[in-house]
Amino acid sequence: MPKLFIPGPIDVSKETYAAMSQPMIGHRGAEFESLYASTQPGLQELGGTTRPFFLSTSSAWGVMEATLRNLCAKKVLTLCCGAFSDKWHDVALKMGIAADKIQVEWGDAISPASVRAKLEQGGFDLVTLIHNETSTGVMNDLAGIAKVVKAFPGVLLVVDSVSSFSAVPIQMDELGIDVLLAGVQKALALPPGLTVFACSEAAIERAKSLPNRGYYFDFIEFAKNAEKNNTPSTPAISLIFGLQHILGVIAAEGVRKRFARHAANNALIHAWGAHRDFRNFAPAGNQSVSLTCFHTPAGFDQSAFIKTLKSKHGFVINGGYGKIKGLTFRISNMGNETEATMNELIAAMDEVLG
Ligand SMILES: *Cc1c(COP(=O)(O)O)cnc(C)c1O
Repeated sequence: MPKLFIPGPIDVSKETYAAMSQPMIGHRGAEFESLYASTQPGLQELGGTTRPFFLSTSSAWGVMEATLRNLCAKKVLTLCCGAFSDKWHDVALKMGIAADKIQVEWGDAISPASVRAKLEQGGFDLVTLIHNETSTGVMNDLAGIAKVVKAFPGVLLVVDSVSSFSAVPIQMDELGIDVLLAGVQKALALPPGLTVFACSEAAIERAKSLPNRGYYFDFIEFAKNAEKNNTPSTPAISLIFGLQHILGVIAAEGVRKRFARHAANNALIHAWGAHRDFRNFAPAGNQSVSLTCFHTPAGFDQSAFIKTLKSKHGFVINGGYGKIKGLTFRISNMGNETEATMNELIAAMDEVLG
């Protein structure tokens, strides 16, 4: 089977699959409760929070949509800089939620000053931010933006960290993030189907005050069940076995070492790109450390490159996402990759390029 270096889903280790094939257990009982509880310290360390993490059997979009339904009474400000952040705005409109946006060119980052200027117009009670815009390889200034949002009482901040959670430090409590969410098939290197998220007390209070939250994605249902180390409905138990396993792997490595490994592996790809004259799509200072997005140079047959890399070497990289498909290509270094595996990929890419 080809090995994935696309920015999600990413390569899943044999050990993770083995952990996921443990015999099934019932979810209303002590075994599941202890499985659930075992995931909390690791998730809380990665998210920089003492708040409980909820486990949603859905991809990230389930919880992204749910943040709008649970938390927006007035108007949401969506910070749009790529495919996922732009779509969050569209989802708000599809739900009939009042929404305004800051839109920057794909490849640019959101500036904290622009967020301040927009919030000063008033009327907002929610901001959505994609920390690491996976479609463009842009990492936004989370601390700078969080600081701005915190200066506006009554405005909650939702942060999607799908492709940054466990790749870089995130301090939910210190930054005053109100919802931190991550689908597990990217930085956490699990198969898709589960999303982890934590809510501040203010987010829970806001949800309580809003009607029509539904059931499956009701944050109050999640909070009530989490008190008993459980989920509102039958969860993807096999994925939670996988989560328990990967959190053990992360603890054994140590989070600091994991962050440093991601930075070092990402630097290898940057150096390779510079050597090959591939320009980074993201600006200096806002480049993701979990994936790299390169401009496709004029005249470069990117699709042949990607095809040959797969057929001859069994490595899969991505040919750009959304409206920059073909104009860019992306390489992930998320999850379990090492200096050795990144160098294997680089050697293969060099061999294809000649
Ligand atoms: C992949 C991705 C999503 C969407 O995840 P789904 O699993 O398709 O719901 C959302 N946000 C970011 C930043 C992503 O990379």
